[in-house]
Amino acid sequence: MRILVVEDEKKVSSFIQRGLEEEGFTVEVAFDGEEGVKKAESQTFELILMDVMLPKMDGLAAIKSLREKGIQVPVLCLTARDSIDDKVAGFDIGADDYLAKPFAFVELVARCRALIRRGSNDRGAEISFADVKLDPVAHKVWRAGEEIVLTSKEYALMEYFMRNPNRVLTRQMIAENVWDYTFDSFTNIIDVYVNYLRNKIDQKFDKKLIHTVRGAGYALKES
Ligand code: CA
Repeated sequence: MRILVVEDEKKVSSFIQRGLEEEGFTVEVAFDGEEGVKKAESQTFELILMDVMLPKMDGLAAIKSLREKGIQVPVLCLTARDSIDDKVAGFDIGADDYLAKPFAFVELVARCRALIRRGSNDRGAEISFADVKLDPVAHKVWRAGEEIVLTSKEYALMEYFMRNPNRVLTRQMIAENVWDYTFDSFTNIIDVYVNYLRNKIDQKFDKKLIHTVRGAGYALKES
């Protein structure tokens, strides 16, 4: 279970990090909003703890930026400003829960567990993108209502694309998230699998969904 903590006050972030690690979580820390967004884009987390008052980019802007990029990781907002306005703003832009500082650590852990549980329940729900539908429980994929039979690796790759639409996925990210390890010189295996997937998902359709982003990687998008 990986949690990203975005908090500029080093005392607070190291306190949270230590506490969560004692609870068995793996914790990554970012000290400003920009760094937080970068880490959330390039790594996989089950939860993000986001302070609102942050340098470079504040927490609300960071959440907005993540949601716009299609990153749907649950976010728990942390703030000293327990005002109604902040809560409304936070929920409006895609925060999932809210905790005012100072908080009791047990309360923080309880909220974290609840959000992670909710997030993983959502993982069972069907995902749609354009005319593609994916059932993560049955491991089945349909395009334009017709089932597309995929091998297990092709399916894993497609699920990763479907969970991260409209976003450039580098070969490194694909390797780490679909193959569970890091490739160095074997990145062409990813190109091979993307081509297998294209043959099944895109070939007989006018609208292509799996796009090459030159010099960067791949993206699932409508144009
Ligand atoms: Ca702060």
